[in-house]
Amino acid sequence: MSFPPVRQLMRSLIGPVFLTLQELQAWLDNRGRHACPFCDSAGRLWRNGKYYAKQASGETILRGQKILCANCRRGFILRLADFVFGHAVRCEEIGRLLECLAQADQPSIPRALERSAKPFSIATAYRWFKKLSLVLSVIRAALASRHPPRPSASCQRRPLLETYEHLRQAFIDQPCPLSAYQNCFQKSILANA
Ligand SMILES: [Zn+2]
Repeated sequence: MSFPPVRQLMRSLIGPVFLTLQELQAWLDNRGRHACPFCDSAGRLWRNGKYYAKQASGETILRGQKILCANCRRGFILRLADFVFGHAVRCEEIGRLLECLAQADQPSIPRALERSAKPFSIATAYRWFKKLSLVLSVIRAALASRHPPRPSASCQRRPLLETYEHLRQAFIDQPCPLSAYQNCFQKSILANA
């Protein structure tokens, strides 16, 4: 029987999601009290290297911490919520694009991209809107369980913008509603369930 490379396994296993580095550090400092999610043994979790994202610019940015269980030798990742999981893209970049789209009188993706200081190419922006469009019902269902939506005239009846407005309302006290969603529900904004 063959197994996928360890690195690939590590990427696929989602551990706790933190909003700030301080929260992640507090978890690490108390890791002796946490049990392994696979074998349930307590106090056997080791640091196994930092988890970085490589940006298109070549810059590497800390995204979390890899953890290895000394008992069962399985690993998982403590993640920071400010990146979309599995992608080297910050939630705030996607949020800024959605914000520019929501504020326009006539929502246009090329114009929104222009106004958001162009973090992506136009093809990438369209790809992101498509990815998000596939999971809108999952996001709305998760949000509705905690924050019932309020109708808004500004979203112009576009499902994507309605969902963004719902995210903004749900996490009104947070600077980035997408990161806050990943932290609150402990899953990716692109999770399809
Ligand atoms: Zn274990």
